[in-house]
Amino acid sequence: MAAMMQPQIILLKEGTDTSQGKAQLVSNINACTAVADVVRSTLGPRGMDKLIHDDKGTVTISNDGATIMKLLDIVHPAAKILVDIAKSQDSEVGDGTTTVVLLAAEFLREAKPFIEDGVHPQNLIRSFRNASYKAIQKIKELAKSIEGQSLEEKKRLLSKCAATTLSSKLIGGEKEFFASMVVDAVGAIGDGDRLNMIGIKKVPGGTMRDSFLVNGVAFKKTFSYAGFEQQPKKFLNPKILLLNIELELKSEKENAEIRLSDPSQYQSIVDAEWNIIYEKLDKCVQSGAKVVLSRLAIGDLATQYFADRDIFCAGRVAEEDLLRVAAATGGTVQTSVNNVVDEVLGTCEHFEERQVGNERFNIFSGCPSGRTATIVLRGGADQFIEEAERSLHDAIMIVRRATKNSTVVAGGGAIDMEISKYLRQESRAIAGKSQFFINSYAKALEVIPRQLCDNAGFDATDVLNKLRQKHALPTGEGAPYGVDINTGGIADSFANFVWEPAVVKINAINAATEAACLILSVDETVKNPKVVCKQIFLLKVFFMPNLVNILMCQDCGLMGTC
Ligand code: ADP
Ligand code: MG
Repeated sequence: MAAMMQPQIILLKEGTDTSQGKAQLVSNINACTAVADVVRSTLGPRGMDKLIHDDKGTVTISNDGATIMKLLDIVHPAAKILVDIAKSQDSEVGDGTTTVVLLAAEFLREAKPFIEDGVHPQNLIRSFRNASYKAIQKIKELAKSIEGQSLEEKKRLLSKCAATTLSSKLIGGEKEFFASMVVDAVGAIGDGDRLNMIGIKKVPGGTMRDSFLVNGVAFKKTFSYAGFEQQPKKFLNPKILLLNIELELKSEKENAEIRLSDPSQYQSIVDAEWNIIYEKLDKCVQSGAKVVLSRLAIGDLATQYFADRDIFCAGRVAEEDLLRVAAATGGTVQTSVNNVVDEVLGTCEHFEERQVGNERFNIFSGCPSGRTATIVLRGGADQFIEEAERSLHDAIMIVRRATKNSTVVAGGGAIDMEISKYLRQESRAIAGKSQFFINSYAKALEVIPRQLCDNAGFDATDVLNKLRQKHALPTGEGAPYGVDINTGGIADSFANFVWEPAVVKINAINAATEAACLILSVDETVKNPKVVCKQIFLLKVFFMPNLVNILMCQDCGLMGTC
């Protein structure tokens, strides 16, 4: 009786939504699996693309896991974690974004029956972490180094990695063409984290094959004034002057006051304005520069002045382009023309303005410091070029990664099968329940080759059986075998140059395991109720034909009747 009399403890606000226990965990797992199902079909060279259009009518067609996840606008709190790992994989290594989402969801799917059977999540987490550690050690062991090769050989190897990344994209048909372009572009910018030194310019029209790499800078012709047509459009070894000033005739400020005693003095005022600009222009010409670029406007007077002296000019150049020209040509951007010495002028072997599709481009090639590169992308639809740009970004990241940590593993599911086999073997030596957990972790890794088969329309069970058998060979010669995307059988991925940088796999396994463990460790979700307004006061309003009481909040003006 006494117990019944105890007052109820109220901890959370009224209306708080709490779900907890096993049911909550299982529901989180289901949400993650549902998210993975969305991107599942995009994996691999035969993967499909997704078309996503938002409420503003923007249409995006993409195969990139991170891009799709970002655009999906997922609201489920647990499933959002998968979006985060896709994003982090994208910024960390640039590729493997679909892989990481699939792996995380598969780990969870494997964990689900154990959770339903009452296994404590912490046991699973411990085993999964252990398995991931072992898997990563094994990848490091299996990875082959491409260090110590000649430059030519290294370039060839890097372009294989880029080609593997591109093979699953819309531009996969031209993967060799773009792979070597990407390797050259990355080679041009050298070391350092200056990714913005690779510019990608998109020009609709033409075919993919019309895309080209400029070993230097290229940008769209800027707005120009009359007189521009008379300027020369081609130079060999020109000196380049970079400015951040306006070269325009400026009228006097409106509120300036000048007192004249003689009407003839008026002319001198007008002349002074002209003299200022002519002096500036003269200094530009004196510097010996043949190409003058400015971030600000270059007016009609200046354009004509330069044209008469066989100098090319372009005003309103975008800041990033100007900075890239500065980096490439060795010039420095000037804020005044008063002291233009030779050192601040840049130079390049070849400058040209030429037609690319419907646009005119200013192209600076053969730059001395050679620290920039520009890829001019051509192609049909806008969405196509956008996706091509995203794919090239993946490939650029991969080549940069592979240049830094130059080890590669066999792709096409080969490395996944090999680790899976290894973990199964290892688990046999472990006593207790952990053996099951590590086994299911190993099974989850098979999702990559299975999905590659499914997406290509192959019989996944058949291919996986062949792969298991090959990888089980005691000599270890089956290790590089993966899915052969061309025949529907199995093939030596290493020999076929389906390579991935080891860091992609290591990062993917790490991030996917962490995400899975994080989701497994959550057993309760608490959702705070919406703040309801308290300060309600009563308004008595006379509505025809009778009196109505209206409740109104003093703060937010929310109304209701009673
Ligand atoms: P992610 O976003 O994870 O990079 P992708 O759609 O790029 O996803 O697919 C990558 C997977 O496709 C990798 O597992 C890779 O090994 C595999 N793959 C790429 N090219 C080939 C190929 N030619 N044959 C077989 N598998 C390939
Ligand atoms: Mg990829």
